[in-house]
Amino acid sequence: MAAEKDIMEKIISLAKRRGFVYQGSEIYGGLAGTWDYGPLGVSLKNNVKNIWWKQFVESRTDMFGLDAAILMNPKVWEASGHVGGFSDPLVECAKCHKRFRSDHVEGNNCPECSGVLGEARQFDMMFKTNIGATEDPDSISYLRPETAQGIFVNFKNVVDSFSPKLPFGIGQIGKAFRNEIAPRDFIFRVRELEQMEVEYFVRESDWETYFEAWRREIVHFTEVIGLPKNMVHEVEVEGDDRAHYSKRTIDFEFDFPFGQKELYGLAYRGDYDLTNHKLNYFDQEANERFVPHVIEPSLGVDRTILALLTSAYTEEKLGDDVRVYLKLKPSVAPIIVAVSPLLKNKPELVEKAQSVFADLKREFGRVMFDDNGNIGKRYRRQDEIGTPFCVTIDFDSLDDDTVTVRSRDTAEQERMSIDKLGEYIAEKIK
Ligand code: ATP
Repeated sequence: MAAEKDIMEKIISLAKRRGFVYQGSEIYGGLAGTWDYGPLGVSLKNNVKNIWWKQFVESRTDMFGLDAAILMNPKVWEASGHVGGFSDPLVECAKCHKRFRSDHVEGNNCPECSGVLGEARQFDMMFKTNIGATEDPDSISYLRPETAQGIFVNFKNVVDSFSPKLPFGIGQIGKAFRNEIAPRDFIFRVRELEQMEVEYFVRESDWETYFEAWRREIVHFTEVIGLPKNMVHEVEVEGDDRAHYSKRTIDFEFDFPFGQKELYGLAYRGDYDLTNHKLNYFDQEANERFVPHVIEPSLGVDRTILALLTSAYTEEKLGDDVRVYLKLKPSVAPIIVAVSPLLKNKPELVEKAQSVFADLKREFGRVMFDDNGNIGKRYRRQDEIGTPFCVTIDFDSLDDDTVTVRSRDTAEQERMSIDKLGEYIAEKIK
């Protein structure tokens, strides 16, 4: 356990130091369960979201995109069963009054002070707020606890606008809010999270085919972003643990440093949601009206980022020294290439480096100019943020327009002509 705790501490510290993830509201002592993504974290997150959007929405002919409002009419949450039903079992310690999720503690004693835990009661996880200037019960609304309902309530709109044939789906990326009893494990369990969700509408008789198709899509996504295959586990969720309307659910679990835990979910939601919202579909060819069934792949952005950071974190012994690097795929790495002049105080090197930097920046965006400290320190810093390539401009560059390109994983360097750089990098980030 000590080693695992150590790894999490190292990753949290690296994430803060290098600008991936900061504690939310840090200068005011923080706010439990909230984290702010810094410049590199945003880049990593955007890369993940763009890959998801391309794969799950844009590249397909049967998908529509959506960006629904976070605040919704409270009737949505009554119909969906969330009001009064979206809760976790809470237990409180009689001695230290700390609260825990009862399914996260073993036995009847407080994990922190060994005091006796009280009876479990249901704790409502939706964040309540008031809409408008009055604070009466009629003005109550909620921050959405999942993006899915935004999709269901727009089902009719999309059908009316585009007349899609079944099967088709609607995909959305967005924030969701859950008043978790015990937020923990860095960005694993947070109160403000981001989800990438698809609701895929099928005829009931086809559900197994499409469940399998989306299972494969999720597996493919984990491979594309570079999560190690052997760390992702598909777990069939058995009867009692499934939501009551779901006939089949698979949890995709990941080997996080603190154990094998849920990364993504794939659920067959039946016709539960559309029925509750009194929505249906008219099939013109068959001249038939019915309620489509739903397959839902639900992927958390924050847990993806944590899985990437923890699996990419690598320590390599170099004599007495340790080289730390993030083995991120170039397609997700926050910075693809860093450009440096060999020496900071030689204007001709700096000028040349700036011109190479400007060209690469225009082409790839995720490019950094780095002239801080000596070249060894720069490589270390870029290693720590997972930059796959470092380009260095030296005195030979001035004569023959070549540069050295150093690869993060092998630390090997190769000499290359400047006009080949763009092509070389474009090939690597495919
Ligand atoms: P858990 O059992 O861990 O609380 P869940 O089963 O409630 O999760 P779902 O409702 O299936 O989670 O949500 C879909 C996805 O959203 C999860 O697989 C996860 O990636 C993400 N997610 C859910 N809750 C959180 C949270 N509190 N913090 C970060 N990500 C979350």
